[in-house]
Amino acid sequence: MAIIHSSTYDLHNNEGHVENKGRTGAIIDALKSSGLQLKFMEPRMAGVHDILMVHSSVHVEYLEVFSGRGGGWLDYDTYMTPESFSVARLAAGGAMVAAEEALKSGWGYSVARPPGHHATYDRSMGFCIFNNIAIAIEHSRRNLGISKAAVIDFDVHHGNGTSSIFYTDPEVMYISVHQDPRTLFPGTGFIEEIGESDGKGFNLNIPMPRGSGNNDYIWILSEVLPQVLSEFRADMLFVSAGFDAHRLDPLADIMVDEEFFSWMGWFIHDTGLPCAAVLEGGYDLQALGNSNVSFIEGLEGSSVKVEYERSPAVAEIFNEISDVFSPFFNF
Ligand SMILES: [Zn+2]
Repeated sequence: MAIIHSSTYDLHNNEGHVENKGRTGAIIDALKSSGLQLKFMEPRMAGVHDILMVHSSVHVEYLEVFSGRGGGWLDYDTYMTPESFSVARLAAGGAMVAAEEALKSGWGYSVARPPGHHATYDRSMGFCIFNNIAIAIEHSRRNLGISKAAVIDFDVHHGNGTSSIFYTDPEVMYISVHQDPRTLFPGTGFIEEIGESDGKGFNLNIPMPRGSGNNDYIWILSEVLPQVLSEFRADMLFVSAGFDAHRLDPLADIMVDEEFFSWMGWFIHDTGLPCAAVLEGGYDLQALGNSNVSFIEGLEGSSVKVEYERSPAVAEIFNEISDVFSPFFNF
């Protein structure tokens, strides 16, 4: 099973920012000392034509010039260094290689920076330059023989970029579990955002109350995911693996821990679908390293004995989801 990573990602760095090179460093260190049998692979750089599958050419040219002139701040929280344009292409290429590896051997995981799920067609935001997972999905559909893709995005933030890129597309089922957007960036990801035109019913948001923990997450995902995945019949899973829902994470107020991430990995393994995972957020370095080990143990099929029960607060959210999605899925 392949971990796709390059130390070149470190050239996109700002020590004063939470999204810095220490993150992937912590993950790789934790994986190497975990005893897990993993194959480490270098990514390749995505071509500009690959990036243009999901981003506007005006925007991509702008980023190249901006980075080439020394970089700086694209908005109040998203930076570029002089190397960031190339590094972001390498991160996109890492996601493409993860998809190729998934089809060869079950799963591939791109441990790359910068992250991607907030990047829209024509805007870089939320620490994200290019939408790595969206590029991997398009690569898989155009070049690898995949037609239906399901996305599971468990980063604590709503993946507004990925959601918007596939918002009218009935062949990409985007499912995101995240902290209630009334209380967290980027302020989107409500249940009512279900997709548009042909894509209606193919965008499913699970907004979680602040303070939700392992039981809440595992219960609602166990209610939603098996039904949606069995009716949608995806050829392949794409996972936006963010670890900032961890209770120690400084950016959000969700309280899951390593047990949830190992359950999540195990659930993905249990679907039997090829899975390309890409790193998104996660900003407490200790928690990030440990959570990645737990996630990969789950992906490798370590059975996880997790007891969970109906959670009243979250059951209300599930009722709302099943009402809104009753024309599309048989909950
Ligand atoms: Zn996040």
